[in-house]
Formats: sequence, structure tokens, C-alpha cells
Amino acid sequence: MRIDRLFKLGLPTLSFEFFPPKSETGFTQLYQTIDELHPLSPSYVSVTYGAGGSTRQKTVDLVERIQNELAIRSMAHLTCVGHTADEIGSILDTLWNSGIRNVLALRGDPPAGQSQFTATEGGFANSSELVRYTRARHDFCIGVAGYPEGHPQCLNRTRDLEHLAQKVDNGGNFIITQLFFDNADFYRFRDTARSMGIKVPIVAGLMPILNVAQTKRFVSMCGAKIPQALLTRLEGLEANPEAVYAAGIEYAIRQCEDLLANDVDGIHFYTLNKSKATVDICRALDIPHAA
Ligand SMILES: Cc1cc2nc3c(=O)[nH]c(=O)nc-3n(C[C@H](O)[C@H](O)[C@H](O)COP(=O)(O)OP(=O)(O)OC[C@H]3O[C@@H](n4cnc5c(N)ncnc54)[C@H](O)[C@@H]3O)c2cc1C
Repeated sequence: MRIDRLFKLGLPTLSFEFFPPKSETGFTQLYQTIDELHPLSPSYVSVTYGAGGSTRQKTVDLVERIQNELAIRSMAHLTCVGHTADEIGSILDTLWNSGIRNVLALRGDPPAGQSQFTATEGGFANSSELVRYTRARHDFCIGVAGYPEGHPQCLNRTRDLEHLAQKVDNGGNFIITQLFFDNADFYRFRDTARSMGIKVPIVAGLMPILNVAQTKRFVSMCGAKIPQALLTRLEGLEANPEAVYAAGIEYAIRQCEDLLANDVDGIHFYTLNKSKATVDICRALDIPHAA
């Protein structure tokens, strides 16, 4: 059930990310989405952890249900925000005792209204500390986050990659990247990481553009950029949502084809709890993947 074993099979992984919905209706829709994505045989799926630990129980319950009832290999995201080490320890114990073997260890963003991340007293200042603690607590497969265009709060990319190397040294088994739209950014990031001795698999995080305004909002929050030519093209289509969808899917398919031709270790789709775009892209590519 460990994700790191999949990387040894010689095929890229294919994975989908979900977030815990706020309402019962949202959960019903999410289970429908998972049903529609299941036939693609994902290598694994992951469930995000809300800001400030707001979805703590929902994340744990959802990841357990997906793995234990729907029989899909699952990974729980976990952040340091608002938690002491003891609280994190008890979440890790719950996950471990439910058979979850994969955790994406993150620092998390500052809670709404705060611009700087402040460690909780008795908690962790960054994800490296969380990775070290998680590694010591149970024998989890631990994923960590990487930033092809640099983390927004980091002063420079070399420093950012040094911090990434530290997460891996502390026990990170693989990396999933922040979303990006220019594969050149990913290749530069991967080459530099390799040259700095970071040898673990690096999975590309992708989010197809289905709505220009929504994607601009995401991009501004996470420090990524939409290439100008793509943005101009999509803005020209904005009056026609179907045309934006078609262009977004076409771009994502080309991005995936190029990544697969360049030996990417895996592709991780930020699904936003919707299945159509991911299904359309995966069916067009028919990606042979580790499952
Ligand atoms: C694949 C993926 C999934 C995500 N899932 C979630 C989620 O479920 N929930 C959520 O709230 N957020 C999620 N995020 C967002 C993430 O929490 C934010 O990007 C957050 O700002 C940084 O998290 P991190 O784990 O990369 O932090 P860190 O690795 O701790 O890095 C944060 C910043 O601190 C710097 N830093 C790291 N170590 C040190 C050190 N030792 N000394 C000084 N500076 C240091 C880094 O360079 C960086 O600028 C996800 C991001 C990705 C890429």
C-alpha cells in the first residue's frame, strides 16, 4: 500500500487530489466523482488538509473511507497549522491504526487574515520538522511539496531547494510539485534538484485550466504563472466557456505528453473534486501507469 513501492515498477504514477467538501451534498458529489475516476485505476488518490486544521476529522475519515471501503490506495495530507506535536502525533496514530500508510507532510499556509506563518507553541515551524517527527512516529511513506517556480515566501530558488533537500534528508520519500503550466519550469527544477543530490521521485502536479478567472486566482495564491501566450489565447475565448474548456484540456494533454516523453515520475491531477476534465485528459492519453 506504500506509494514509494510504485515508483520501482518502472512506470509513472497517476494520481488524483480531492478536498473534503463542506456539506453533505458536496460529499455526495465527491463520491460520484470518485466513482467516475475509479475506472482509470489511479496509482493513488490524496485528500487535502484544510487551513488551520479545519478539516482534520473530515480528511482522516475521507482518506480512510476511500482506502478501506473503496479499495483505492490513499494518502492523507497533514499540515502543521494550529497543531502541537502531540496533536499531530495522535492524528498520525489514528491514520496508522486505520491502515493508512501514506502521508503528505506540509507546513500549510498561514490562517486567513495572517500573512506570516507562525509556529504553534509546541508545534512545528516548517515541514522538515513535521517530516522528521512523522518518520520517527511510524513507518509511513512520506510525500513532500516542491515548487518549480519557487515557494512564494522563499527569497531565492536555491534556498528553496536546500529546504527541499532537508525535507528529503529528514525522511521524505517523494515530491509532488505545486501546479505549473510551463514544463520548462519543471525540468529546470528537476535538473537542479538532481544536481543538488535530491534523488527521490518528483511527481508533476497539474491543474487543467477550465475557468480563466478561477485559475488566475489559484496562480496568484501559489506563486505560479500562466504563460502569456496561453493566457492571451484563453482570455480571447472567455465569452465561450466551452471553448475555454476545450483549449484548457488540449493544453493539459500536450503538457502531459511532453512530461511523459521526458520520463516524469508521475502526474498528479488537482481535480477540484470534479471528474470530467481528468477523465477527458486521461482517456485521450491512455497513460500506462503504475497501479
Ligand atoms: C502537492 C501540494 C499539496 C498541498 N496540500 C495542502 C493541503 O492539503 N493543505 C494546505 O493547507 N496546504 C497545502 N499545500 C500548500 C502548502 O501548505 C503551502 O504551499 C505552504 O505555504 C508551504 O508548505 P510546505 O510544506 O511546502 O512548507 P515548507 O517546506 O515548510 O516551506 C515553507 C517555506 O519555508 C521555507 N523553509 C522550509 N524549511 C525551512 C527552514 N528550515 N528554515 C527556513 N525556512 C524554511 C521554504 O523555503 C518555504 O519558503 C499543498 C501544496 C502542494 C505543492
